[in-house]
Amino acid sequence: MKILVLNCGSSSVKFQVIETSLEMIQANKDSAIAKGSVERIGMSDSRLSLEVPGRKTYQEISEILEHRTAVERILKVLVHPTQGVLGKVEEIEAVGHRMVHGGEKFASSVLVNPEVEEMIEECVVLAPLHNPHNLRGLRAAQALLSGVPHVAVFDTAFHQSMPPKAFLYGLPYELYTRHKIRRYGFHGTSHRFVAIHTARLLKRNLEDTRIVTCHLGNGCSMAAVKQGHSIDTTMGFTPLEGLLMGTRTGDMDPAVLPWVMAMEELTLAQLNAMLNKHSGLYGLSGVSSDMREIQKACSDGNRRAKIAFDIFCYRITKYIGAYAAAMGGVDAVTFTGGIGENSAEVREQTLAGLGFLGIELDAEKNRNLPRGEEVIITTPASRVAVAVVPTNEERVIARDTVRVLGGVMPSFAVPDNEAPR
Ligand code: AMP
Repeated sequence: MKILVLNCGSSSVKFQVIETSLEMIQANKDSAIAKGSVERIGMSDSRLSLEVPGRKTYQEISEILEHRTAVERILKVLVHPTQGVLGKVEEIEAVGHRMVHGGEKFASSVLVNPEVEEMIEECVVLAPLHNPHNLRGLRAAQALLSGVPHVAVFDTAFHQSMPPKAFLYGLPYELYTRHKIRRYGFHGTSHRFVAIHTARLLKRNLEDTRIVTCHLGNGCSMAAVKQGHSIDTTMGFTPLEGLLMGTRTGDMDPAVLPWVMAMEELTLAQLNAMLNKHSGLYGLSGVSSDMREIQKACSDGNRRAKIAFDIFCYRITKYIGAYAAAMGGVDAVTFTGGIGENSAEVREQTLAGLGFLGIELDAEKNRNLPRGEEVIITTPASRVAVAVVPTNEERVIARDTVRVLGGVMPSFAVPDNEAPR
């Protein structure tokens, strides 16, 4: 069946049409027949692009003022007589929606109905910068494709299996019971996808594996995936916690915040911008948030870029050790995301000191990866395998849509994992 996958941000809608079914998922044969985006929504020069395998990218520039018009244009281009890939809109049998935050309400992907929509609305308070746009896209698509089921897939759901010792902060407990302040984790669809594919690469059952997944892109997070369940992850209440990222701080002493606010006379909005937009690789190096630029500056002898690069890798190394301890051992470490898939230097430096864990990198394989493929980059003698698995969040969303409709969508909740109320 053809599934339309929508990922709506504040000023953009990304989309894919994916041909999939339960049988195709089983055989790993599902694939995108078209993908694209509408960028700069709200401007007079919004851009719609459509990529179809084997064809030149098609682009349209026009005024698109809101999400509903964006979805309308996407449907129109998909049935375009020369550029399109569908004979008619009715070929779309279901829509899968990326939702950033499902709070504690969603430990699985779900069929959207009015009750579910209200629950997603209740999660807006936890992700005020993301969920409202996701909801706007959902409502636009529901209005335009009213005859088909809509499924919501949450970034947070996979991590709902974390136990309280991993998800609670050392704050007064009332902040959890009153305001649900706890660690949620993000990038769940990606961690889940690469863990499943790593187990396949190792020719092992997911249920018998302990995998550390490293999603390293503009946003970066890691997860400890034990027997297929996320038992810990580096992002927390928001995506700010954990690893160093393009422009985000990652872990730091929270006492720094009031101190900096006072010393620099910052408002809350300025503080937020500092932590999320002016820190990380960018803030440390003063060069860029882009790892390619950082690596280039390192080879040009820029010392601040080098320290930013070192911190980036060091944190990943530390968390690999921490998660090996959390899982009582580790069978595989998997890299994904723009940096994880493309930076041999990051993988090499991150793993350099981990021989004691039984990791023996094959330097040649690490440096010469076949593009876009899932590969193991350790030697046959390595006790822990290291894999590179290109992530595909849209494919997970399409797959979950099919699973929900087929009644075979698992829940990630672990019943004994609830914290006392
Ligand atoms: P993503 O958010 O997954 O698209 O990843 C974006 C990040 O991947 C940016 O920091 C890019 O610099 C980084 N990236 C992409 N290609 C490369 C490459 N060949 N080497 C190093 N980093 C890369």
